[in-house]
Amino acid sequence: MQPAIDFDNSYARLPERFFARLDPKPVKQPKLIKVNEVLAAELGLDLEALQSPAGVNALAGNARFEGSDPLAMAYAGQQFGNWVPQLGDGRALLLGEVVDASGVRRDIQLKGSGPTPFSRMGDGRAWLGPVLREYIVSEAMHALSVPTTRALAAVATGEPVVREEVLPGAILTRVSRAHIRVGTFQYFAARRDGEGLKQLADYAIERLYPHLQVSENPYLGLLDAVIEAQAELVAKWMNLGFIHGVMNTDNVSIAGEAIDYGPCAFMDDFHPDRVFSSIDQHGRYAYSNQPRICHWNLVQFAQAILSLLGDDEKQAVEQAQLSINAFPGIYEKAYQQGMNAKLGLTGIVEGDDKLANELLVLMADSKVDFTLAFRTLSQQDLDPFKAMFDDTSGIEAWLEKWQLRGADEKMLDEQRLELMRNSNPAYIPRNHRIEQAIRASLEDDFEPFHRLNRVLQRPFETQADAEDLALPPQPKEVVPYTFCGT
Ligand code: AMP
Ligand code: MG
Repeated sequence: MQPAIDFDNSYARLPERFFARLDPKPVKQPKLIKVNEVLAAELGLDLEALQSPAGVNALAGNARFEGSDPLAMAYAGQQFGNWVPQLGDGRALLLGEVVDASGVRRDIQLKGSGPTPFSRMGDGRAWLGPVLREYIVSEAMHALSVPTTRALAAVATGEPVVREEVLPGAILTRVSRAHIRVGTFQYFAARRDGEGLKQLADYAIERLYPHLQVSENPYLGLLDAVIEAQAELVAKWMNLGFIHGVMNTDNVSIAGEAIDYGPCAFMDDFHPDRVFSSIDQHGRYAYSNQPRICHWNLVQFAQAILSLLGDDEKQAVEQAQLSINAFPGIYEKAYQQGMNAKLGLTGIVEGDDKLANELLVLMADSKVDFTLAFRTLSQQDLDPFKAMFDDTSGIEAWLEKWQLRGADEKMLDEQRLELMRNSNPAYIPRNHRIEQAIRASLEDDFEPFHRLNRVLQRPFETQADAEDLALPPQPKEVVPYTFCGT
């Protein structure tokens, strides 16, 4: 029996030129890999029905969920800085929306569901590896309190997908507060479709930032809201050592969620210039470049909605510029708050940025594992932390400064350590573990994938029998690149 899903498809009610309506292309032999039980419950979905043959069939695109209205969304974007006037969902379909248990409207989308009018040269499919990667990383991000798209399910298609080699196909069911991107706005702006642009902005405001509806200039409010959400999002990435890898404007969510986990990865040993994506040859999306790129992406957003900001163009540009200029301050504050929490400090005082930076420099010099170092600093005994550094006197001098600064805090030692443990995860989805899980899945062994998901649901809690997942890779286990052959 198919699960009864209470769809209400507001995006499908927008004008026809916003999307292309079509059904997913059926696959040979759908097989369930995983349903996210907690998320299914949040969305009010019947788990048993979702896992039944009829449910799995629908998750694979072989049958339509009753009440869904599948469509591929149109969007454009700058990819690695180059303008592409039409991208769109080339291998994804928005099935529709449901209102979750807390009243939030959420998109349900299939990714890897077959070709669409936006597929260009692509096959509309995904292979198992990137589907498992996105499942693991997006759910881990959620557990790490990072706003993100979610993974509701993964199914194998029983069909081969041809990349550099022939690989098994899979489909991810993705959930988002809205799959609206900076590139969606750019799509209408570039076509000089002012009416479409306004409709999209009104839709985004009503759905994502409804409080702006009564503000004096809702579109300026939208710009500010997206700037703030993106600044806070990227600050969280930086606090966790996360590298997105493809911060193209089509992958920048208006809802402020992390979206499109392609060649992303978490850093092991710290280096500010770290890049994982094999196609990012110039390091455009390197770790330390992410705030700057985010700022640049937001300039593109401001440009796209400029015509909505007012009739007087000069004044509109001035207003947009003011908003854009606020980005560095908002970002720095969010980043420093995150860093301070990692260091067990509550407020921000002058010199805190320097304190954090000095530690990062020492970490880079000694090639120290970012996640493990902060976690080790979160315990009473500091000897294991010190032992991670080659420069003993350097780290001892830093520890002294840190302890001096900590003495200002009105916190008990135990409270401070607890704050630190809740800000410094023991577990992140390490790249070599993801690769191991993918390799095992190719032998039809999904246990490493399930185990990784299980442990990553509680990243801040030390868990029995999971010590191996907290450790950095051995030199021979390091996976220095991730591939875009998704
Ligand atoms: P991404 O790099 O995943 O953000 O994708 C960029 C664009 O390429 C989007 O328009 C995708 O829909 C499209 N795309 C990526 N992979 C495929 C594929 N296998 N088939 C069709 N379109 C694709
Ligand atoms: Mg994308």
